[in-house]
Amino acid sequence: MRDAQPGTVYLKDYRQPDYLVDSTRLRFELEPNATLVQSRLKVRRNPAAGEGLPPLKLDGVNLELLSVAMDGAPLAAADFTCHDEGLSIPVDRAEFTLEICNRIDPEGNTSLEGLYLSNGMYCTQCEAEGFRKITYYPDRPDVLSKFTATIIAPRDYPILLSNGNEVERGEIDGDRHFVTWEDPFAKPAYLFALVAGRLEKVEDRFTTMSGREVVLQIFTEPKNIHKCAHAMASLKAAMRWDEEVYGREYDLDIFMIVAVDHFNMGAMENKGLNIFNSACVLASPETATDAAFQRIESIVAHEYFHNWSGNRVTCRDWFQLSLKEGFTVFRDAEFSADMNSRAVKRIEDVSMLRTAQFAEDAGPMSHPVRPDSYMEISNFYTLTVYEKGAEVVRMIHTLLGPEGFRRGSDLYFDRHDGSAATCEDFIAAMEDANGVELQQFRRWYSQAGTPILEISDDYDAKQQRYVLTVRQSCPPTPGQPEKQPFHIPLKMGLLGADGSALPLVAEGSSEGEINERVLEITEAEQSFTFENIAEQPLPSLLRGFSAPVKVRYDYTPAQLRLLMRADRDAFNRWDASQRLAFGAMAQLQRDFRAGIALQLSSELVEAYRSVLQQEGLDPALVAEMLTLPSAQTLAEEAETIDAEAIIAARKFAEHTLAEALYDELLATYRRLNHDKPYRPVADDIAERRLKNTALAYLCVTERKDALALAEAQFVAATNMTDSSAALAALVNRADDQCAEAALQSFYERWKEDDQVVDLWLGLQSSSPQRGTLGAVRALMLHPAFELTNPNRVRAVLGTFANRNFTQFHQPDGSGFHFLAAQVIALDKLNPQIAARLVTPLTRWKKYRTGPREAMHAALQSVMASGQLSADLYEVVSKSLKTD
Ligand SMILES: [Zn+2]
Repeated sequence: MRDAQPGTVYLKDYRQPDYLVDSTRLRFELEPNATLVQSRLKVRRNPAAGEGLPPLKLDGVNLELLSVAMDGAPLAAADFTCHDEGLSIPVDRAEFTLEICNRIDPEGNTSLEGLYLSNGMYCTQCEAEGFRKITYYPDRPDVLSKFTATIIAPRDYPILLSNGNEVERGEIDGDRHFVTWEDPFAKPAYLFALVAGRLEKVEDRFTTMSGREVVLQIFTEPKNIHKCAHAMASLKAAMRWDEEVYGREYDLDIFMIVAVDHFNMGAMENKGLNIFNSACVLASPETATDAAFQRIESIVAHEYFHNWSGNRVTCRDWFQLSLKEGFTVFRDAEFSADMNSRAVKRIEDVSMLRTAQFAEDAGPMSHPVRPDSYMEISNFYTLTVYEKGAEVVRMIHTLLGPEGFRRGSDLYFDRHDGSAATCEDFIAAMEDANGVELQQFRRWYSQAGTPILEISDDYDAKQQRYVLTVRQSCPPTPGQPEKQPFHIPLKMGLLGADGSALPLVAEGSSEGEINERVLEITEAEQSFTFENIAEQPLPSLLRGFSAPVKVRYDYTPAQLRLLMRADRDAFNRWDASQRLAFGAMAQLQRDFRAGIALQLSSELVEAYRSVLQQEGLDPALVAEMLTLPSAQTLAEEAETIDAEAIIAARKFAEHTLAEALYDELLATYRRLNHDKPYRPVADDIAERRLKNTALAYLCVTERKDALALAEAQFVAATNMTDSSAALAALVNRADDQCAEAALQSFYERWKEDDQVVDLWLGLQSSSPQRGTLGAVRALMLHPAFELTNPNRVRAVLGTFANRNFTQFHQPDGSGFHFLAAQVIALDKLNPQIAARLVTPLTRWKKYRTGPREAMHAALQSVMASGQLSADLYEVVSKSLKTD
């Protein structure tokens, strides 16, 4: 909580730290409400920071200060200043040892930042600014120090962990013990970690490319110890991949992962001791879906990859967050693409980007990949910094090619190993290693908003010449009314009338025949001419989603069907299916508003039928092509969001498709519904995905036969993917009694398993049928629900507000006011989660009148509710601003 309006921090105000900390010795005596923290810092004046000896400023929040000593001499209270945000200590020497003793309350810490208790286990979360809730310290990423930590705890906490290598352990006065950990690598405080608890572990080994043996350990509560195998296999695959693709080897003798139940994020890359949200590490075929298996694989890899992109080379300041996150998300996406279906991975990532990141770009919190300012840095762990940041790195990869990119990443790691770097350093390494210039490309880091490419073309049959004209623009965003042109790689090809690839010969070029090109768009308007084009071509644009932009090109439905059938780029085949569906749904929305009887485009129905009948397609790709754009995606694309029309259009389209394609869907379901032992591997996942997509459609008809298939699958399922898909089909379609019985039996079977209970809660909250406001209120009273557990909050409240478009957008505005009330309550416990949960309301300006005023009023009620945390204040105040 704050006393006054929170201040704003600006990138332009960055200054080097006045003092460096060469070593940090920590000693913890763990007690639930009174943990004693002692630190001993070797401090020295930073020679690069200027002349003189300014006071030493240390960050500290919610700490009970007990004592401070400099070079062994205790300081009196009058010798320094202690305030709400930390300490200021006058300094008279260039080098000294500082000793501080303070007390903290881990049990009372519900913000889950700093040191806290989760189900009786101590753990830490220090990124971004959590270390200041543990002890007074220069809590900024550009102060790197060698840490040693001694943890003292009662003997019934047998496992005591921190970063690096264990160097000592022993007894203290009979009923307590201690372990000392030493991390040989200098690191900023945000990478510090501590864990203490009654945990069990699984252990494995990995031999690095230079032949060193590394011990791998995963710690969990004893009841979950059988659910670690997949995470361990994923870790080993990631270690091998990073050696092969980036030449990066692990550097400590031990690598540990700990699963924690109460966690604000997915996982945290603390040096040598990753701390994970249980949901992102624990899996077994009986309890985890395919999606969970894949998510675990990618998150384990992501955190592991941070050992180089984040830990060995860290960020100079938090404005540079995308330096480690954008790069690491790109790395984990490529890893997942190599492990699974590349096209489907790309489709999933782009769907999320288009739905949620594009909405962020167009909303009140819009910011560049490298923000210029923030009130609360926790609010900037965003899709823009992570996902769009990864797209920016991907564009560099596209422009330089894999070898060029590798030369650049090698130089970047070599140059900046053991130090704190900036986004600018990353680009400079890419330039220097390749002898190229990316000056204009840097605008991706400084300009917010989603660029729009308007593309038109002209074919001259006589000259056999084809001209493609590209106009780029970018809508204004808060603080950035005008944008300069971006440097955009546009990957494209041309198709002939029969779907074959046409050769792309650029005007005046003597190079050989190629079928695909990356056009570099750098100007506001630019034309590209191709020669010797024998027939009117059909352009396939932005293949593989080569840039995070919106492409406007006037395709006819027939052209989209040709792309769906014949484009050699799998991503663009899917994209064509989405464009076709978008067009059909836009028409339905207009007809709904005009009061005209709805009729679905027969082009869309027949296109879906062809997809179901076409042989040799990846079943996962088929499933994606058959999936209508979500209500959220339709909302993002709309100029003004008409929730009622979107809901009506989507429901009508789904019903029409399900009825028209019933036989084909049934045949697909039967073909894929075979008994096969469960394996979470790409081919099997793809088959289950298509099978369950077909099942969901079949059940939309509410025909008895279809619901019987779902019931039979629910009873017979031997894995959670099939079981939960059948349950979802029943919950969304079947009569109440049948759905209720299935929900009950599912809960009775799995009530001891936290991950499955989250899934069970989410299924109900997201159901357009059953997830009414009343039902969601009832779920909050269920014994399994806890407002202090972020996974539960996300499963019930996050799912309702973000994924249950129908019920959340009830015309009376009740959903909005309900969410506002929950956000207010949550802010007192966990500001980070509250600030995230409020997001759907922040889009109020885009809605049509009615919902717009209701959302606005709900937001205002949050603002008027009293003293808000800095996290929530920033999001709500920026959202209420009218320009
Ligand atoms: Zn990360």
